[in-house]
Amino acid sequence: MTAAVSVPPVAGTARRDIPAFVRAGERMMWIGGRQVAAVSGRTLPNTDPATEEALAGVPRGEAADVDAAVHAARAAFTDPAWAEMSPDRRGRILNQIADVIEEHADELATIDSVNMGAPRVLTTHMLAEASEVFRYYAGWPTKLSGVSVPAGKDRMAYTRKEPLGVVGIIWGWNGPMGQLPGKLAPALAAGNTVVLKPAETASLSTLRLAELLAGTDLPAGVVNVVTGLGAEAGQALVAHPGVAKIAFTGSTATGKLVQRQAADTLKRVTLELGGKSPSVVFADADLDVAVRGVAAGFLGNAGQACVAGSRVFVEEGIREEFVEKLLKTMEAFTPGDPLTRGTLVGPLSTKAQFDRVSSYLDIAREEGANVVTGGGRFGDHGYFFAPTLLDDVRPDMRVVREEIFGPVGVITTFTDIDDAIARANDTDYGLAASVWTTNLTTAHRMAAAIEAGTVWINTWAEMSTGNLPFGGYKQSGLGREGGLEGLDTYTQVKTVRIAL
Ligand code: NAD
Repeated sequence: MTAAVSVPPVAGTARRDIPAFVRAGERMMWIGGRQVAAVSGRTLPNTDPATEEALAGVPRGEAADVDAAVHAARAAFTDPAWAEMSPDRRGRILNQIADVIEEHADELATIDSVNMGAPRVLTTHMLAEASEVFRYYAGWPTKLSGVSVPAGKDRMAYTRKEPLGVVGIIWGWNGPMGQLPGKLAPALAAGNTVVLKPAETASLSTLRLAELLAGTDLPAGVVNVVTGLGAEAGQALVAHPGVAKIAFTGSTATGKLVQRQAADTLKRVTLELGGKSPSVVFADADLDVAVRGVAAGFLGNAGQACVAGSRVFVEEGIREEFVEKLLKTMEAFTPGDPLTRGTLVGPLSTKAQFDRVSSYLDIAREEGANVVTGGGRFGDHGYFFAPTLLDDVRPDMRVVREEIFGPVGVITTFTDIDDAIARANDTDYGLAASVWTTNLTTAHRMAAAIEAGTVWINTWAEMSTGNLPFGGYKQSGLGREGGLEGLDTYTQVKTVRIAL
C-alpha cells in the first residue's frame, strides 16, 4: 500500500445522493427561536473534502450576532417556561431530543460525512451515541439534589444545585455530532440555556439539528446557534459578560487562549483538548487483536481524533512480527469515499488540514525519520492522505511530540514495563492510552501508572454513552465530560441557612 495506488472512487458531490440541506445555497443561524442571517450579511463557504466541490454556505456571525444570541439565551434562562419547568418535564424534553436525533440519524450522519469527510460508519456511530447521551442525561433533572446538613438546634441548613446561566459551547470539526451531546445534554439537564458555536468548516449538521429542535417542546431561545470563525464569533462568545461558562473542545493552543480570555470575566471553563496518545503492545498480547486496535487507533477518522493512538510502542522481540502484521492491517484503512459502505477512512477534512499533515511529513524527513509506508497524498483529487507509519524516530522529534492530526503513526520499541511507562508518559498530553497484554498484573500496573484521563486495555476508542467521565490529564484538558462529574460542571451550589 503506497500513495501510488489508484484514485479513490469518489463521484462528484452533485452526482452523489446527499441531503438537500448540504447542497448549494445559504443556511441560516438560530437565535431566539428564529432563523437569521448574520447581521453583516456575510457568509462562509463549505467544501466537500472528498470532491473539493462547494456545499451550502453558512452565516459568518460576529460579535453583534453573538450578542443577540446571548440576550436571547439570557431571556430564555429567566423565562418561567424554562426556569420553572418541572424536572420530569425537562427530562422528557431531553428524551424528545434523543428521539429526534434517532429519527434523523441517517441524514445528520450523512451531512457530517459530506461536510467533514468522516466515513459513514463513524458518523453513524457518533449519532447513535449522541441519542444515548441525551437519554442518559434525561434521567438527571429529577435527581439533581442538594443535601441537608446538620446545623444545630433551631437551625436548618441545606444546599441546592442551581444552573449557571448562559453556557457558550464551542467545538471542533472532527466530530461535530460526536462532541456536542456531551456538552449540550448536561447543560440543558441542569437548566442552563446555551449559545452553540460549531467549527466554521463543519457547521451544517448543527444548523440542521437546530431546525429539528425547533419541532420539539424546547422553549424558544434555550438553544441558539451562531456560526462563524473562531477568532470572530468564538472569541466574542468567550469574552461576552452575559456568558457564565464556556465548554470547549479544540486544540490545546486555542484552549489556552480561551482560558486566558475567560479569566477577564471569571467564567468557568471546561476544556477538551489535544492528545498524542500511546498504544503500548506487550509481547504477551494477542497480536491479531492488538494490531487491529493499534491501526484503528491512529488511522480512525484519518487520524483526526483527539484520542488518536499516534505513538506506538512495542516490546522488543516482537517488533518485526508486529510491524509485518500492522502493514497488512493498514491496507484495510486505504482511503475511500466516506459515503461508500465499507470505507473505514475518508479524506482529511479541509485543504488547510491536508497542508498541515503534509508539512509534518516534510518535518519527519528533515528530522531523519524513516517513512515505512504512506507519506503523502493519496489519489489525485480530494484531500486524501495515505495511511502512514514512521520509524527510526527519537523522543525529541516534533513528529513524536506534536499532535499531527492525520493518519500518521510513529513506532518504537521498549525493553520492559518500566521503560514502557516512562516512554508512554514522555509527553505534554494525557488524554488517552491503550495497553495490549494478556497479563493481568501488567494491565493493572499500566492502568495506574499511565498519566491519561482514559486507559483502554485490549480495546481502543470505546467512548461512553454518557455515563463515564472523559477528559484530559496534563495539557489535554480541564474538567470532565460524562457522568455526574460532567453534569456538576454545569451547576453551582447554593447554601441556605434558616433560623427556625
Ligand atoms: P481549534 O482549536 O482550531 O478549533 C476548535 C473550535 O474553537 C472551533 O469552533 C473554532 O472556531 C474555535 N476557535 C478558534 N479560535 C478561537 C478563539 N480564539 N476563541 C474562541 N473560539 C475559537 O481546533 P480544531 O482544529 O477545530 O480541532 C482539532 C483539535 O481538537 C485537536 O487538537 C484535537 O485533539 C482536539 N479535540 C479534542 C477532543 C477532546 O475531547 N479532548 C475531541 C476532539 C478534538
